Amino acid sequence: LDIVHRNIFILTAGALIEEVESTTKTARIAVHTHIKGLGLTPEGVALPIASGLVGQEKAREACGVVVDLIKSKKMAGRALLLAGAPGTGKTALALGISQELGGKVPFCPMVGSEVYSSEVKKTEVLMENFRRAIGLRIKENKEVYEGEVTELTPEETENPLGGYGRTVSHVLVGLKTTKGGKQLRLDPSIYEGLQKEGVTVGDVIYIEANSGAVKRVGRSDAYSTEFDLEAEEYVPIPKGDVHKKKEIVQDVTLHDLDASNAKPQGGGDVMSMMAAMGKNKKTEITEKLRTEINKVVNRYIDQGVAELVPGVLFVDEVHMLDIECFTFLNRALESSLSPIVVFATNRGVCNIRGTDVLAPHGVPVDLLDRMLIVRTMPYSVEEMVQIMSIRAAVEGITVSEGGLTALGSIGARTSLRYAVQMLTPSSIIAKTTGRDEVAEEDVGEIDELFFDSKASARLLKDAEGYLK
Ligand code: ATP
Repeated sequence: LDIVHRNIFILTAGALIEEVESTTKTARIAVHTHIKGLGLTPEGVALPIASGLVGQEKAREACGVVVDLIKSKKMAGRALLLAGAPGTGKTALALGISQELGGKVPFCPMVGSEVYSSEVKKTEVLMENFRRAIGLRIKENKEVYEGEVTELTPEETENPLGGYGRTVSHVLVGLKTTKGGKQLRLDPSIYEGLQKEGVTVGDVIYIEANSGAVKRVGRSDAYSTEFDLEAEEYVPIPKGDVHKKKEIVQDVTLHDLDASNAKPQGGGDVMSMMAAMGKNKKTEITEKLRTEINKVVNRYIDQGVAELVPGVLFVDEVHMLDIECFTFLNRALESSLSPIVVFATNRGVCNIRGTDVLAPHGVPVDLLDRMLIVRTMPYSVEEMVQIMSIRAAVEGITVSEGGLTALGSIGARTSLRYAVQMLTPSSIIAKTTGRDEVAEEDVGEIDELFFDSKASARLLKDAEGYLK
């Protein structure tokens, strides 16, 4: 009961959820920030360049059909497999699918080889990523007081409410409700907490009518914090004064909930932080904890307080998974708490890892049977140039016509990914020669300085495997 109770608290109080904000794997998605969708017409036809995507029309249209299947709830128990050479936009397409499903839909990318870690079981790694890809939207209609953080006048500081104002000199801030000018005064320790979170004079914050928790909104809606005000003690909320119903929406993933509940509840002081460092965080999320979280989540869904937002789990290099993982995946796809799984591979027929069995893409036939397979094709030089110019714009790098063409031909010779990676180094070269625009010669200079993987392999081959 204790655990269940704690979960309810976490679902209603933002602070604990916000503490685990970094569980999304942002770094790996960062190179794809320009992808905003699949770029299809309402009829499902791919526009040559749209939503940040270039070319790859057939695959995009096929992905559009998958999006329709997902939306009409016909994808349950099935998965998508993108098959094609490296750097043909498989990750980009998977992200495009998730964007088409909605802005706040979680997208979790992983690589097959990630499951091989000495510390954590393979299926545990898969499970964690599954849960990173399942979102929960918690909607609450709360009675709140809206107010602005204002500086109190010396007389107001002298206000006899509770009396702390006179003894604690730095209590110069209170909360003024927007109507009526009544002031709700914050306990000094709570105000300090708000300050640490960046709340300053002028910010609009909310006080929940019932619990007295303070919610800050404002500059960034990604940011919100709740503090337990212990309302009765410190904040005399005027009954029937300014308050309104406000819908508070929070998007979390099941993994966020797992992680925040597995955390030691020790508080933020140095000693407990040090103590937490010694522990292996990964093993703290137990099967039992997940079952409890699921129960609470399901109850919230039944009550209409929360809504499940299945996201996209992208598993690159699926042929790196072994038979144990495939068994797990077969079962996990059947679960009602399953995200949309998009697999990717560049392999043809190969061994299923952990067996002597040959199978297409190294995937067992029973799992392959559940998959819709979409082929991705190599890009033309023109398409690479287009992609490069989109990336340059996103990264704020100006590239001359000649520079773009040079990058495009590097892409054709090596790979798209390598060419995109050359953007920033080229711009550094340009800057050192005092120019803001990347020119053809900068790209050429960079090209001479670095080896792409193909060139490096050729060199090693010529040297018979050893560099002398
Ligand atoms: P894959 O998963 O097939 O290896 P990818 O999607 O990871 O390919 P990269 O090779 O990493 O693609 O591509 C380098 C850059 O090009 C990334 O920023 C990616 O988003 C972008 N990109 C790839 N394909 C397209 C496309 N069709 N349209 C626009 N940008 C693309």
